Parts: sequence; C-alpha cells; structure tokens
Amino acid sequence: MLITEKMKSDMMDVRDEEMLCCDKCGNTNIIEKCWIFVNDVVVVNGDCYQRTEEPDDDLTWCKSCEDACRVTDLKTWKKDNPKN
Ligand SMILES: [Zn+2]
Repeated sequence: MLITEKMKSDMMDVRDEEMLCCDKCGNTNIIEKCWIFVNDVVVVNGDCYQRTEEPDDDLTWCKSCEDACRVTDLKTWKKDNPKN
C-alpha cells in the first residue's frame, strides 16, 4: 500500500490527540515515577519493554513548567485552550 505524506500527517494528528499532556501548559513532555520489574523484559523488533507497577501516587512532572502537574489528554486541552 502506498503511504502518502498526507496519510502520515493524518496518522500523526490522530496519535497527537490521544497523547497525554500537562493540564497547565499543554506540553506533552511529562514524566511519571514508576517501579520496573527488572526481570520482566520483552524485546520486540529491537525495542525493549518492561513490566511496570502502577504508580501509587498521581505525581507527574512537566518538563516545560518544571513543576508537578496534573495530566489531561491533548484533545481536551486544545478544546479548553482554543488560542493555543
Ligand atoms: Zn506544563
């Protein structure tokens, strides 16, 4: 199947809408602490995946704000912040 640049762009838009972001600034460069099961590793096509424990707190950090943040999805954030 031929994949055009437009198709790639549309796929990126869909993916972006599903991304999580900082509820203050909308930046998607956010991190969350988690525990990793060091012996539960799967390698798929050269990429390494490790099983993680659900975080026991909701602490997320926005690398843009350099502050703790709450997380929302990008679609909701764009709807709530139409000027951005
Ligand atoms: Zn932020």
